Amino acid sequence: MDSILSYMVQFDYESLYFCQEAETGLQAIIALHDTTLGPATGGCRMWTYPNEMAAIEDALRLARGMTYKYAAAGVNLGGGKCVVIGNPATDKSEALFRALGRFIDRLGGAYITGEDVGTTLRDMEYIRMETPYVVTLPRELGGAGPISPATAHGTLQGMRAACVATFGSSELRDRSVALQGTGSVGSIVLELLRAEKATVYVADIDERRVQELATRHGAAIVPPDAIHALEVDIYSPCALGAVINDQTIPQLKCKVVAGCANNQLATLEHGDALQERGILYAPDYIINAGGTIFDTDRLQPGGFDEERAWQHVDRIFETMTQLIQISRDEGISTARAADRLAELRIAGARKVQNIRRDVRLAM
Ligand code: NAD
Repeated sequence: MDSILSYMVQFDYESLYFCQEAETGLQAIIALHDTTLGPATGGCRMWTYPNEMAAIEDALRLARGMTYKYAAAGVNLGGGKCVVIGNPATDKSEALFRALGRFIDRLGGAYITGEDVGTTLRDMEYIRMETPYVVTLPRELGGAGPISPATAHGTLQGMRAACVATFGSSELRDRSVALQGTGSVGSIVLELLRAEKATVYVADIDERRVQELATRHGAAIVPPDAIHALEVDIYSPCALGAVINDQTIPQLKCKVVAGCANNQLATLEHGDALQERGILYAPDYIINAGGTIFDTDRLQPGGFDEERAWQHVDRIFETMTQLIQISRDEGISTARAADRLAELRIAGARKVQNIRRDVRLAM
């Protein structure tokens, strides 16, 4: 990125904030992308960035991703992200997160934060001491608690919709699935798939964990470097990003790619390549939105309503069905159709706002 402002103009960012407090060592950046649908919301990431520009780029890129994620999921929030420059293992303190909380509070609700890579519910509790603008919180503080079950549930809804389009049925019974990663979300995906009587192959670099889970749920273990190339109905990436790339695409022998991992495509063009190979890709940010949907339910009037939150997570099936239709109608990949769906929703909301503005002017 040569010029921050040119980049912001190119992708339509609203604002970028820098915060520092020498006393607590806080150095953070908050990016607000698009607030058409609601206040900019997105997690707080803590990371040892190699330089300041890398942190700025990450905040901007992730904030834009959140705009698309909320828009496509039908959540009335805008896209934002906060990055704290520092080592989450050694640089954390109550004072640092409370300083960040005070800064977020000064933004007056324009940005709502949450947990992300390098931060925990405990850190959110510190932020919450200074500001109400935090979404990820434990149940006892009015939050939704852990979100991995909702992410896993949403991932299965996305898989089911992809199965309707590919195999003519949403049934997962007897479908074969290659599951890459059995962490917080992957382990629940495994449990849910086995409850539906799917045949599951699992791989994880944590040998003890995968052994234990495979035995408990009745799955076959495959080496981590071979899982993507199995001849199965569904390949489910639930570990790393960029697993769909120039090397892996020719090796895939599945009909559907549907998993919870973030940023599965190395580039958007790899989504086109999957389409050309006749493999249906369930876009990551669509089917892994369950946790986010569940989590942000607490921002609705009246606070967190678990039943409503689960119903909303279930709708990932409809969203996925809708974007498959857009992909077919417009002859574009499902990855591009997901972006189209999000952009259509934002454009629709802008139209409503403009009508409201016109009405106000006419009065
Ligand atoms: P996690 O860290 O709990 O689990 C990741 C698992 O992947 C670990 O068990 C790890 O050992 C394994 N792994 C790492 N490298 C691997 C490899 N090369 N091959 C096979 N396994 C490997 O993370 P998580 O919370 O389960 O999230 C998984 C993915 O889903 C991440 O990409 C995350 O960003 C994304 N995601 C998670 C959530 C959520 O609710 N936790 C929400 C949206 C997206």
